[in-house]
Amino acid sequence: MPASERVSARVTAIAESATLAVDARAKALVRAGRPVIGFASGEPDFPTPEHIVEAAAAATHDPRYHRYSPTGGLPELKAAIAAKTRRDSGLDVDEGQVLVTNGGKQAIYEAFSTLVNPGDEVLVPAPYWPTYPAAIALAGGTPVAVPGDEQDGLRVTIDRLEAARTAKTTMLVFCSPNNPTGTVYTRAEIEAIGRWAVANDLWVLTDEIYEHLVYGTTIFHSLPVVVPEARERCVVVNGVAKAFAMTGWRVGWTLAPADVTAAMTKLQSHLTSNVGNVAQVAALAALSGGTKEIRRMRAAFDRRRRTMVRMLGEIDGLRCAEPDGAFYVYVSAKDVLGRQIGGRRPGTTAELAAVLLEAAEVAVVPGEAFGGPGYLRLSYALGDDDLAEGITRIGKLLAGS
Ligand code: PMP
Repeated sequence: MPASERVSARVTAIAESATLAVDARAKALVRAGRPVIGFASGEPDFPTPEHIVEAAAAATHDPRYHRYSPTGGLPELKAAIAAKTRRDSGLDVDEGQVLVTNGGKQAIYEAFSTLVNPGDEVLVPAPYWPTYPAAIALAGGTPVAVPGDEQDGLRVTIDRLEAARTAKTTMLVFCSPNNPTGTVYTRAEIEAIGRWAVANDLWVLTDEIYEHLVYGTTIFHSLPVVVPEARERCVVVNGVAKAFAMTGWRVGWTLAPADVTAAMTKLQSHLTSNVGNVAQVAALAALSGGTKEIRRMRAAFDRRRRTMVRMLGEIDGLRCAEPDGAFYVYVSAKDVLGRQIGGRRPGTTAELAAVLLEAAEVAVVPGEAFGGPGYLRLSYALGDDDLAEGITRIGKLLAGS
């Protein structure tokens, strides 16, 4: 029986995570002894800070954590998430509005599964992180890509959103700082988008996972703080993965109205039950430990960001603006498509990414993965020396030397 008949239509319809796929291919080549430099991965290269690891190590010996715990999260972690949210974004939430999830990914899946009905349209500013459309489709909804403005950091504006809105639109995805573009929306832009969502009776899933990773004078703003009227129709997604170098621990959360939180918790009770207790204790240590470690890592990302933008700017044919947040540079490669590169003539950025991997042993994610062809996403969450070597290799390959 062919796989298409063995596998449900629902799962057949979604693509595998392209970012994880490129990353897995690069890591497999490294294991095979190839000196591949990975710009594909969306994770910090730092180990998790020691005080967090120690808290987790101690928790493994405590029988309290060997048992099932409340589906929605350890009460002390929920309290810490509420306190951290008040401290960092200024949003006032109580513990009944918090659900601890297996990473931001599960938070997103549960939010769409809880709020989207079959046939609902969800606006997804493009380029987008590919899990959004997949999770919307799995919930029976229709993801509607709203292209950002290429002249303005690929941002979406009210005009663009309004052009995509129909009578079936029920929800908007908002991600700032953005993956893959690194764009951070200003307070005024967020206010306009939040008000527009309220005026049109839309839910907003606002993804704040990169809140701490903003550079220079850029300030992060939380949509439900800027637009308090939106609070009753917002699901905030966040987690410890990016800010604390904890991608492998799998702890995220949602902040949502209490009834929606209860519904998502019900879903999670059948899906995974509680998040691993040891990981929750680690997240508790991260959130209660101050922001010193975050500032240290952010300083390193900032340095690498500037190096990467400078080096890419010296490569003929590549164009990128300096991103204000997250740890990605989204580079336009439109001007190099069709050129002779590494013995081939890539006509798309998907083909170009394949040539870069083969001929320069550099892994990048093509814009096609994010609904934004013509671009390459390069993460700068890798060591300074690898970063410089990888960009040098790209430059040499494109220059034909
Ligand atoms: N949102 C965005 C925009 C992301 O880039 C990621 C990770 N790539 C996540 C959410 C989820 O992170 P995690 O599941 O590791 O917590």
